[in-house]
Amino acid sequence: MDPIARLTEALTKLPGIGEKTASRLAFHILGSSEEYARGLAQAILDVKERILLCSVCMNITDQDPCRLCQDPDRSEEVICVVEEPNDLYAIEKTGSFKGKYHVLHGVISPLEGIGPDEIYVNELLNRLKGGKVKEVLLATNPVVEGDTTALFLKEQIRPLGIRVTRIARGIPVGGDLEYTDGATLTDAIRGRQDL
Ligand SMILES: [Zn+2]
Repeated sequence: MDPIARLTEALTKLPGIGEKTASRLAFHILGSSEEYARGLAQAILDVKERILLCSVCMNITDQDPCRLCQDPDRSEEVICVVEEPNDLYAIEKTGSFKGKYHVLHGVISPLEGIGPDEIYVNELLNRLKGGKVKEVLLATNPVVEGDTTALFLKEQIRPLGIRVTRIARGIPVGGDLEYTDGATLTDAIRGRQDL
C-alpha cells in the first residue's frame, strides 16, 4: 500500500473521522513541514510510551504524582470524582474547580459485570482516610450507571464523616460531561448539592 493510502486508512480508525476527512488530513500532513510531521508522529508515540496513571488520583500523566496532585494552589479539602480523564479535562477547562480530582476509569454497571473492584473505588476510599478531605464532589455522568455509582460512593463515604455532594442537574439527563459546554458545567459545579 502506498504511504498516503496507509496514512489515510490509519486515520479512518480515529473516532469521528470518515474516509473523506482522513484523506484530507493525510494530504494536509503530506504538504506540511517535515518538522511538523516528526512532531506529530513523536507526540503519538509518546502518548503510548510515556503516559502512566498517577498513583494518587489515577489520572493519566507523564509524571507521578501528576501536576494536579502536586499543585500547592489546589485545595486538598475537596476531591472531585469523575469517570474518565476526558471529564477531568472538561472540568479543568472551565477553571471553576480548584480542588483535587479522582478518576474512576469507568462506572459501576451490574449489567456489564462491572463492580466497584473493577474501577478505582478502593484507591479513592484509601485517600479519604488521610483525614484532610472535607468534601467529595461526585461528577459522574447523569445517566443510570453514573447515578448508581454516585449512590454507591455516597454509602461508602458518609460513614467517614465527609460531606458528599453531586453536580447540579444543569447537565441534561443522559448527557456527557465531556460534551457539555463550559458555562453549563461551571453552573453544575457551583450549584452542587448535598447527596
Ligand atoms: Zn494525580
